[in-house]
Order: sequence, then C-alpha cells, then structure tokens
Amino acid sequence: LLEMKNIKKSFDDVEVLKDISLKVEKGEVLCIIGPSGSGKSTLLRCATNLETKDSGEINYQGSFGLVFQNFNLFPHHTVMKNIVNAPIKVQKRDKDEVYKEAKSLLKKMGLEDKENAYPCELSGGQQQRVSIARALAMNPDILFFDEPTSALDPELTGEILKVIKDLAAEDMTMVIVTHEMNFAKNVADYIIFMENGYIVEQGSPEEVFASQNTRMKEFLGKFE
Ligand code: ATP
Ligand code: MG
Repeated sequence: LLEMKNIKKSFDDVEVLKDISLKVEKGEVLCIIGPSGSGKSTLLRCATNLETKDSGEINYQGSFGLVFQNFNLFPHHTVMKNIVNAPIKVQKRDKDEVYKEAKSLLKKMGLEDKENAYPCELSGGQQQRVSIARALAMNPDILFFDEPTSALDPELTGEILKVIKDLAAEDMTMVIVTHEMNFAKNVADYIIFMENGYIVEQGSPEEVFASQNTRMKEFLGKFE
C-alpha cells in the first residue's frame, strides 16, 4: 500500500532523514518509535506531503488520512462541520451521504451527542476522537498518527488507544508514531526504531523488544 525508498531529508545543513526505506502492506499496523529529534515526525510529514523529501521514492496506492498530536480541529466550526467539510468541499461527495456517514462515525467514537459542540467545549480525548472521525470521513486507505496521545492525560490516553486498537481489529492500515511502548507492542504488526535519522532496529514487536542492540536497549530502558 505504501512504499518509501531511500528517503533523505535535510533542514539547512542537518540531515534529519538518512536513507529511510519502509513498506506498509494492506491491513498492517506499523509503529515508529525512537527518541525525540530522531526524525519520526519528519518521516510522517514526508510520507504525507506536508514536507518535501530531498531524494528517494514514495509509492502509494490509495489515499491517506492524518491525525496530529494537537488535534488541529477548526475552532470556529462545530464538531459536525469539522468532519463533513473536507469530504463535501474537497472530495465533492454527496452532502446527505457525508452527513449520514459522519453521524455513524460520531456514534462509533462515542460522541453522538456532541455534533453541535465546538472543539473548545470538549475534553482533549473527545477532540482527538473528533479528529480521528474527521480523518476516517475521507475514507482513507491508510491512516497516519503522529503521537496521538502525547497531549493527553493518562486516562484520556487509554480511550484513544482503545479507538486505535478497534480500528486495527477492523484491519485499518495505520502508521503510528508513538511513545506508548506497551501499546506499540500490542497493536503493531511491525515496529521501526529510529535514531538520529536512521532506522536502527526493525521487526516484529517480539523481535524489537527482545533486541540486543545497545541503542534500542537503552531507549527501552527509559520506559521501565
Ligand atoms: P519528537 O519525538 O520530539 O516529536 P521527532 O522524532 O518527531 O521528535 P522531528 O520532529 O522529525 O523529530 O525532528 C527531527 C529533527 O529535525 C530535529 O532535530 C528538528 O529540530 C529538525 N527539524 C524538524 N522540522 C524542522 C524544520 N521545519 N526546520 C528545521 N529543522 C527541523
Ligand atoms: Mg515528532
């Protein structure tokens, strides 16, 4: 579904992505972990065209959605408007159909009573569920998450991780940058550990969490 080959990216003189290659198959969940500044967000931004790569190749089949750390909802639009705007305006889809689908997405997210609320009237966890609903309303083939829970309190983190787990159970293809190691272990089919612009370790959760790589062990040690 997604293939990135030999991606390189520099900001000024600093090479932030150094020859990154990865593949995501349909129905697969890829988790990207690694220390702050290792290039995880830049990789996601290159994959989703928010940033231009310097070299390398990106091959896609289908469309993608993106969920950010800070929700990025339009503050002056209601929950419903936030969700239906792009499918109607960008995808030019039938209004009634989009509203109907948005209602069922809100129900799925446990927010059926919030469609007329404004983002500032919602908790962080609720806002994040709206932004997941908004991404899903575009019917993406692949969903990218950049630290979807790092702006949330621990109890709200759990509710978002649950939503993502449910999506995984429905075979949604996802690429998730996360600092939640237990979650990554549970939900990922494949894990990439990045450091300093390189993929230092990768494999199944079992492989990566049992890695004898010094850098990997040092990183995982911080979560114990
Ligand atoms: P975190 O876990 O803190 O989110 P990250 O792994 O997502 O970190 P990136 O945001 O990808 O890291 O940043 C990697 C490096 O690239 C950092 O050194 C950062 O300062 C630099 N960088 C990122 N975006 C820009 C930019 N627009 N201009 C200049 N430097 C940037
Ligand atoms: Mg980041």
